[in-house]
Amino acid sequence: MTDPLFAPVELTPPDIAPYRRGNTGIDHVTSLSAAEPGPHVVLNALVHGNELCGAIALDALLRKDLRPARGRLTFVFANTAAYATFDRQNPYASRYLDEDFNRLWSPDLLDGRRDSAELRRARILRPVYESADLLLDLHSMTADTAPLTLCGRTTRGRDLALGLRYPAWVVADGGHAGGKRLIDYGGFAEPEGSRTAILVECGQHWRTETATVALECCLRLLLGLEMIGLPATGPRLRPRADPQRVVEVTDAITASSERFRFTAPFVGMEVIGRAGTVIGWDDGRAIQTPHDDCVLIMPARRVKSGQTAVRLGRIVG
Ligand SMILES: [Zn+2]
Repeated sequence: MTDPLFAPVELTPPDIAPYRRGNTGIDHVTSLSAAEPGPHVVLNALVHGNELCGAIALDALLRKDLRPARGRLTFVFANTAAYATFDRQNPYASRYLDEDFNRLWSPDLLDGRRDSAELRRARILRPVYESADLLLDLHSMTADTAPLTLCGRTTRGRDLALGLRYPAWVVADGGHAGGKRLIDYGGFAEPEGSRTAILVECGQHWRTETATVALECCLRLLLGLEMIGLPATGPRLRPRADPQRVVEVTDAITASSERFRFTAPFVGMEVIGRAGTVIGWDDGRAIQTPHDDCVLIMPARRVKSGQTAVRLGRIVG
């Protein structure tokens, strides 16, 4: 039987060794400043070591040798230690070394005494993220789900996601019980304020298209901010006719047993019309949709007891 998690690795992990020294004193961080004032934009790749799309996008931009017309543009390859272990024969294994880099973003943890490979790197990168006005965090997904932006709960996060006009799905959510994500860190998530962070899930981890989406999101952001002009050669922005839809997360379904099963091979962003539709069974308990037109957000492929099996949302605009 084929492993249900099998997915071909179409993408080639780029060699990021040329960016190791960078120019900031922090490994794998390169920062370019313009004379004209403007925002500090951070393009962030490899929060998860097996999500290649962001690294490919940043590599493509760095190779273009582009210079921001205003403000400051910083390229971060985050969990490079995990990425260094990427093995296309076992591509899930390099998500992290010790723990999920994207669950560490609270001052308690960062200032605390606990140690891990990811915490060490997070503490080093912390000042970079704390100095960002805008953060674009590039990720990918296990399932073949349509690209989507996670914009957190702030209005400005939602506005930024809509300002890019792509991807079509925008999900407003408050993160995970298991620890804070980078986009929920500090000023990014404060209701009032100006610092803004969004996370784009660009598609399936290793599909060719996923890297194209990541690069497109970077270009849309930088063009929209008038930090760059459209490169004379190279990537073209594809016209996007799909209207964007905003989904607010209403529920998280936590599995209470290892016997959690979905009723169908959901990949995410399915819209279930009728309230009360059974979408899964958890040790004999029916899991039903709580409202009409319920959106399934990133159902887990392997559900573990105590972990989020799926989040549910409502289309609000
Ligand atoms: Zn990720």
